Amino acid sequence: MLALLGVLVFLAREYEENHAVSQLELSAANMAGELRAGLLRNIQDLQALSVTSASEPQWQRAASVLLSAHREMLRLEWRDRDLRIQQELRSPFQPQTFDDMNREQVLPDVQHACANARRLKGPAYSASYWLPMAQWLGQEVMEMCVPVIQANREAGFIVATYGLPGLLTELIRSETRRARSVAINEGDGTRLAIVGSVVNERGVIQARQLLDLPGVAYVLRVEQARESGGWLPNILTATVVALTLALTTLFALLALDVRRRRRAEGSLAEALAFRKAMEDSLLTGLCARDMQGRITYVNPAFCQIVGRPPEQLVGTGIPAPYWPPEQIDCYRQRQSIRQTSRLLPRQGFESEFLRADGVHVPVLVVEAPLINAQARQTGWMSAIIDQSDQRKAEELSRASQDRLQATARLAMVGEMASLISHELNQPLAAIASYASGSLNVLQDPQVPLQTLRIELEATIQRMADQAERAGKVIKSVGDLVRRRERARAAVPIQALWDGISPLVKLQAHKLGIEVQWEIAADCPAVWCDATMVEQVLLNLVRNGFQAMPPGDPASGSGWRNLSLHAAPVPANATSPGRWVAFTVTDHGHGLTDEVAKRIFTPFFTTKAEGMGLGLSLCRSIVEQHGGLLDFEPATPRGTTFRFTLPAAL
Ligand code: ADP
Repeated sequence: MLALLGVLVFLAREYEENHAVSQLELSAANMAGELRAGLLRNIQDLQALSVTSASEPQWQRAASVLLSAHREMLRLEWRDRDLRIQQELRSPFQPQTFDDMNREQVLPDVQHACANARRLKGPAYSASYWLPMAQWLGQEVMEMCVPVIQANREAGFIVATYGLPGLLTELIRSETRRARSVAINEGDGTRLAIVGSVVNERGVIQARQLLDLPGVAYVLRVEQARESGGWLPNILTATVVALTLALTTLFALLALDVRRRRRAEGSLAEALAFRKAMEDSLLTGLCARDMQGRITYVNPAFCQIVGRPPEQLVGTGIPAPYWPPEQIDCYRQRQSIRQTSRLLPRQGFESEFLRADGVHVPVLVVEAPLINAQARQTGWMSAIIDQSDQRKAEELSRASQDRLQATARLAMVGEMASLISHELNQPLAAIASYASGSLNVLQDPQVPLQTLRIELEATIQRMADQAERAGKVIKSVGDLVRRRERARAAVPIQALWDGISPLVKLQAHKLGIEVQWEIAADCPAVWCDATMVEQVLLNLVRNGFQAMPPGDPASGSGWRNLSLHAAPVPANATSPGRWVAFTVTDHGHGLTDEVAKRIFTPFFTTKAEGMGLGLSLCRSIVEQHGGLLDFEPATPRGTTFRFTLPAAL
């Protein structure tokens, strides 16, 4: 651009100079024309003068008028055919010009001019010569010879002497010469005369013009100051420079812009690469859909979850290839909700996807609207979390908890083993004694057959009752110990009582504790796994019993009782729906603050033979059912444990 600018300025300057030079050349041609025209007019005047005879005094007068009118003429002579001077007159303006030079000295020049004039039959000029004057001055002059023809005969010559400087000043108009120097030079460049001077630090321009006169030729050299030598010579150059500068500025701005763009593109590419790496390494599946439900983007994690490559997913509409057929309606419903409400729950929903290999994958889907830069919604974005591993872990933990519960049940049964054996002893001993009594009766021959039948029937009936009683004890223990599949059902409260009462009563009887059972009149059945809830109740009852040991002096006889209570919970804002609250209240030693803080911590126990698992298991069972387990001090002493279960509708 700079080089171009330089060239443009240079060319503009060249053009301007050329223009000025051609103007000057035109002026020089005009000047030469003026000179020629002036000389021609002079010739006519001289020819008019030649009409008068040399001897006549009018010649002197006419010559004087002529010299006064033409300052460029320094001298006029009338010469005869042999070039002898007949008449002569000096210019009144420079009368002393010829004082220092004898006219004989210049005769050869005059002869030369007149010989030419004779030959040409018209005026002719001599070469110029230096005419010295006083005080070392002088000027270049030339002779002009006009042949005088009278009666078709050559009568002589009129010789006029021209001062070359005078020619320039008198014959060229002063307006044409203004601010210029005009010089008459010889062909080899020798300057003969000059008028005007040009001094200019920026230099001058010059034009040459041939001034050929009959018999002699000069070069007219015109000089003038270079008009505009600066860097901004005129409007053209200034415009070119301004345009170039504007172009350069634009170019610089463009370069700056390009650089900025490239930087922005670089950081954008970096951000994109970072985002891509992030999306690719994410374990969460991402899936974008447009407003019509067509998939517009999926990340690798999503492809992995549904087991399909992106090409099979992007562009597909509804139903999506990974929707399980049985859930298509549900998904369609969700899509229409999405399109109408546009407000999606933030917490997401659990669902299932069908992998390409036919496996159902449990997933958690969280959806959010996709908003573009113009704040317009362009679709939806879903984040999908594969929950297979979590489900497996949950399954595992449930299984281990089940095993733990079974173990706890076994431990509890172990604790009760002596009690159970004692309880079993009674019916067994009764059966044994009934059996031996029956044998005795059978062996006695005096007993009449009728009596024997009646007695045996009654005894066998008692034996059957006792065996049933023993069977019930065994069954209740078996029911408790056996690990059953969780099965929830509507269970009446009384059935729960019945499930645990043999064991509770056994223990209560042994410890001498009174147990009260109470069910509120309007209490509904509960929706639960009966075995588990029985385990909870048994645990709480057993803890209550253990808090009131027989030898405890603090627990007076009036307080050795334990009450179990079940009543519906009135529905309120915090617990909507119907619930049933169970309380187990003992009047034992109660809980210290330290114990109360850690009571639900697994393996926390204050008992020598305790495992510390009972309450933590109770709580997890209750929470599995959606309820809550807590405790508070009972009045006047002891503790009340309270838990809730959902009512069966
Ligand atoms: P364990 O009975 O095997 O010790 P639990 O988890 O059932 O395990 O009970 C933890 C602890 O809580 C007990 O050791 C006892 O100190 C305290 N505790 C539980 N129930 C009662 C209660 N009704 N009265 C007083 N303390 C209790």
